[in-house]
Amino acid sequence: MPSPNIFVPGPSSVFHTVEDHIRSAFRKDVPSISHRSSQFKSIFEECVSNLRLLLGLPDHYHVLFTGSATEIWERIIQNCIESRSAHVVNGSFSHRFFEITQEYHRQPRALRAAEGTLPELEGEDFSADELLAVIHNETSTGVSQPLEEIYALRRRFPQLLIAVDAVSSLPYVQIDYHQVDTVYFSVQKGFGLPAGLGVWLVNERCHEKAKSLVSKGLSIGSYHSLPSLIGQAEKNQTPETPNVLGIYLLAKVAQDMLDRGVETLRKETEFKAGMLYYTAQNHPKLRPFVQTEKWRSKTVIVAEVEDGSTPVIDALKAKGLTVGAGYGSFKSSQIRIANFPAHSKEQMQLLIDALNELN
Ligand SMILES: *Cc1c(COP(=O)(O)O)cnc(C)c1O
Repeated sequence: MPSPNIFVPGPSSVFHTVEDHIRSAFRKDVPSISHRSSQFKSIFEECVSNLRLLLGLPDHYHVLFTGSATEIWERIIQNCIESRSAHVVNGSFSHRFFEITQEYHRQPRALRAAEGTLPELEGEDFSADELLAVIHNETSTGVSQPLEEIYALRRRFPQLLIAVDAVSSLPYVQIDYHQVDTVYFSVQKGFGLPAGLGVWLVNERCHEKAKSLVSKGLSIGSYHSLPSLIGQAEKNQTPETPNVLGIYLLAKVAQDMLDRGVETLRKETEFKAGMLYYTAQNHPKLRPFVQTEKWRSKTVIVAEVEDGSTPVIDALKAKGLTVGAGYGSFKSSQIRIANFPAHSKEQMQLLIDALNELN
């Protein structure tokens, strides 16, 4: 059995059914099938339809597969940003997207906020040709962007393309997909799967944007261009030989999550997050990093540790519990705890008991 006690915010503990699904995949020769076969097309179709149900994704959205979320950053730049974009930058992941946009010689601007906080978006102005990149859950700091603020921008700037990084908050977060244009994640975080698969959800406006760049004589890249991904997805296929096993496992785990019930999954996430924040708040050595309560992530809980995080990480490790260190400059002062569907209430209780014994 794989360890259920890895609370690092990705890769993390795998969902409890994954091992069985890998065995069944081998019985069905999934790792060896052709990606042009009817067996693959039905796996693709099953994966997409389960994801649509689980996420509440409208029919007009395309579901596309890539190698990672990092790849999707690059594909969004190539296909959906002509020159201007605005990026909420409040931690390492949001900063990296901003930086790649500069590397592509676009003209991104950063809407900056200190780590652990969010920028004020209400008074911000956007032009019609911009793309706004927001991060629903900044995994490096445990800050979560309230989506209502994004929807309010949608009403004020209906032409603005809006891209949402939901890598470490799906499938927990319910997004109103009508109010944004593209959302993406990779599977080794909230889906509890082995790494190596990114999922890119896009509406037709993104597709139109890519086609308009082509018609202006601009390059949208070749590998995984949006029109090529969409064209193949309409036939339940991919342009290249994809991560077939990853797509199969995602189909199965999405089904397991549907069987458990997405509402149950959300309530459990909130319950476990409540337990963790309560523990951090009342612990002599811990303190939640994010001060503003409504910004605190439900899926990645970050706490500052008095006297440094290493002794805490080591003491937990000795009990078979692995939590993440702080990210970047917070490495030795913070811990990060993933609270994904793969982490049961019982496992979270074990972790909390161990934290309380540290004193
Ligand atoms: C992990 C992560 C990424 C990058 O995902 P990869 O699958 O490693 O490319 C991007 N954004 C956020 C918020 C993440 O947590």
